[in-house]
Amino acid sequence: MTKYVYFFGAGRAEGSSVMRNLLGGKGCELAEMTNLGIPVPPGFTITTQAWVHRQRAGRKWPEGLWEQILEHLERLEQVTDARFGDRERPLLVSVRSGARVSMPGMMETILNLGLSDATVEGLATRAGNERFAWDCYRRFITMYSSVVLGVKREVFAEHLDAVKGRLGVTADADLPADELRKLVQIYQEEIAVRTGNPFPQDVREQLRLAVDSVFESWFAKKATEYRRIHGVPEEWGTAVTVMAMVFGNLGEASGTGVGFTRDPRTGEARFYAEFLPNAQGEDVVAGIRTPLPIEALHERMPSVYAELLEIATRLERHYKDMQDIEFTIQEGTLYLLQTRSGKRSARAAVKVAVDLEKEHAIDQHTAILRVKPTEVNEAIRPVFDDREKAAAIAAGRLLGRGLAAAPGAAVGRVVFDTDRAVEWAKDGQQVILVRPETSPEDVAGMYAAQGIVTSRGGRTSHAAVVAVGMGKACVVGAADLSIDEARRQFEVGGRTVREGDVVSVDGGTGEVILDAVTTVAGQLSEEIETLLGWADFYRKGGLGVRANADTPADAERARGFGAEGIGLVRTEHMFFAADRLPVVREMIMASDQAIRRAALERLRPVQREDFVGIFRAMDGLPVTIRLLDPPLHEFLPNWKEYKEMVAEKSRLETLGAEPETQQRLEALIVAVEKLREANPMLGHRGCRLGITHPEIYGMQVRAIMEAACTAAEQGVRVEPEIMIPLTGTVGEMKETFEQTRRVADGVIAEMGVSVPYLVGTMIEVPRAALIAQKIAEHAEFFSFGTNDLTQLTFGYSRDDVAKFLPKYLDMGLLPADPFSILDQEGVGELIALGIDRGRRRRPDLKVGICGEHGGEASSVEFCHKVGMNYVSCSPYLIPGARLAAAQARIKERLAGGGDYR
Ligand code: PEP
Ligand code: MG
Repeated sequence: MTKYVYFFGAGRAEGSSVMRNLLGGKGCELAEMTNLGIPVPPGFTITTQAWVHRQRAGRKWPEGLWEQILEHLERLEQVTDARFGDRERPLLVSVRSGARVSMPGMMETILNLGLSDATVEGLATRAGNERFAWDCYRRFITMYSSVVLGVKREVFAEHLDAVKGRLGVTADADLPADELRKLVQIYQEEIAVRTGNPFPQDVREQLRLAVDSVFESWFAKKATEYRRIHGVPEEWGTAVTVMAMVFGNLGEASGTGVGFTRDPRTGEARFYAEFLPNAQGEDVVAGIRTPLPIEALHERMPSVYAELLEIATRLERHYKDMQDIEFTIQEGTLYLLQTRSGKRSARAAVKVAVDLEKEHAIDQHTAILRVKPTEVNEAIRPVFDDREKAAAIAAGRLLGRGLAAAPGAAVGRVVFDTDRAVEWAKDGQQVILVRPETSPEDVAGMYAAQGIVTSRGGRTSHAAVVAVGMGKACVVGAADLSIDEARRQFEVGGRTVREGDVVSVDGGTGEVILDAVTTVAGQLSEEIETLLGWADFYRKGGLGVRANADTPADAERARGFGAEGIGLVRTEHMFFAADRLPVVREMIMASDQAIRRAALERLRPVQREDFVGIFRAMDGLPVTIRLLDPPLHEFLPNWKEYKEMVAEKSRLETLGAEPETQQRLEALIVAVEKLREANPMLGHRGCRLGITHPEIYGMQVRAIMEAACTAAEQGVRVEPEIMIPLTGTVGEMKETFEQTRRVADGVIAEMGVSVPYLVGTMIEVPRAALIAQKIAEHAEFFSFGTNDLTQLTFGYSRDDVAKFLPKYLDMGLLPADPFSILDQEGVGELIALGIDRGRRRRPDLKVGICGEHGGEASSVEFCHKVGMNYVSCSPYLIPGARLAAAQARIKERLAGGGDYR
């Protein structure tokens, strides 16, 4: 018979941390804590395997499961000296979900199960507290009904509010016993009317249905949404833990709280916790009541506080990571209800990893592997410009302050519900979700938003915890904001902010400011520098990291982030500046060679200056410059402008006015029409352009080499790598290679400066990968342009893929967007083959990647595996790429491959 139920209690547990997949995160750590001798209420965990078997059998429970639950219930009765359903000494339990990865608040939990009209009296007598017993009963009915019977919480909340209103009290805790007793009766009547059945009095039946509903809550909309966002497989399912209740609502010597062993926003090593006296756990997490800072516990119950701190420290040391704990104090006795690795901001992730290494809790490998590459990138995200923010505040634009719950600078339009947040974000708008408090139903909206503001809740409320994990700026408990959801506005200090108005949210300080405040580039913190320093050490002999940068300023920024060269300068980007575009247009529209050459001559010094700037910024490091790539029509007026020109020309014609303007317009219209292509991405672009108009590439090569020689004369060490785009045939390669060499050598001879340079190619046409051996006869290096290579391998237009990609992802036809995450199976195969064939001809062929994938962790790991020399990505992704490259190397090493060089 399969064992579906694992017991923990009285200092011993059948499970442990290593059984996470079977017992879920909550179940396995409760077992682990029990074995560590930490005070945990006894209970048992029903395995994820039981969930899987039930699921496979069409939601029918596997044989023996119920019997095993009953057996363990008996064990629980023995260790607690109480009996389930007993009138004198009733045992109450909580029924809690727990998947193998934490999905905070996404699934269901039921507290105080085991109460009935009979046992509630026993509980009152035993506790010597009637009010407490009826408070538990009304809470239980509310939770059980919403989870198991499908009666919404609001139904009960309305009655509760009505009673509070009648008595003129605001806190639940101020309701006397007889009112609670009456409330329970009203609740039961509601249930009878709404479900057609009385509230179940058989406690075993309560338990069976509760376990089943918690199993089923895996499929709740919010849980499904969470899994989609976080890539959690549907087939994992959840475990269910049934635990003896301990009560935080037994009066002022009782309470409940949550805490982190370090500050989850900054990573600072201090106990970061909150506490709510005379309450049950749901009150804290739901953000309904704003909890007190943990110092309040220190003042009220110093010895409990000391014990809590000691346990928190012990847990962190045991797990070698920052922990997020839940605790309850029952009449002065402390119990731990959960521990898990704490969600943290990106900045905190880096600091915690580095600090733990310094404290000798973990080694450098572990520290490097523990931080996600996206987290280091996130940690250098833009922040508000200090001066502009101060000016905004001085000008009276500060709307309010709340608790700084999750760092980040967010600007966007205010929305008041999740659906609208998602809808507006889909339209490309930046939104700020403003809610009284958030619940798991809001997760999709939080994900879509740039930032989140709530008027209620504390630092450990749902909004705060989820936002920290998502890396969103968040301010909670901004109590001055009076939110009117129905009218879609909030009022603050006599001002009304309506849906669609722009606000700026500083999650690091808790400020909410009207209108946009400018953001500025973030910086590498000391901890990031340390972590990346380690990463660079372990990366040696593996991948180099270069930047895609088009201007001297970009190049400098990239160098500041640790770029070891430039892997791609897209020279066409230099042409878009307002003062250059007219000259570029002249060059394109030239009716003869002489005019074109004249325009090119005007562009040459401008390009040269840019290159000199880049070479200076990258002194001593390689710089790969790509010759002009995109279709020429990109420099001409777009479709809308074209239509306007045609309309304007015919207007002037009719008026018989401005003949010169008419002529100019006519010339432009003819040029646009001549250059228009049915499929520009597959048209006259890349090296095809350089071959049909050698004077364009000629000018560019000249500008590059003049810049290189000039810089070299000034003592800068330059190593230009001139790169041909979109090569597909040997003929193209040979022609452009020879043409480039001719011009470059000519410049070197003219200027009398010897500068080493290389001529290589992008590999972005599948054919080029296939004939890489022949291409390498001429090309001195390869750089994989995986944007085009993906486009051409899948046959998906880069510009139109959004039309069908979301559907494909929804239907599971693609595992991920291949333009973000390299398709290793298809495109990756072409890359591996291209490298192999290229190196057959030229064993020391330098190979890199410069498509957007060069900054994405799984793609970087792939690049390492296929033996590339470097990855190249946008400057802001450099820190993440350095870390990803080190992780790839360390993982390889741990798997037994190679040593550090
Ligand atoms: C590529 O195709 O991957 C590339 C880097 O070039 P671009 O994005 O400029 O086409
Ligand atoms: Mg390309």
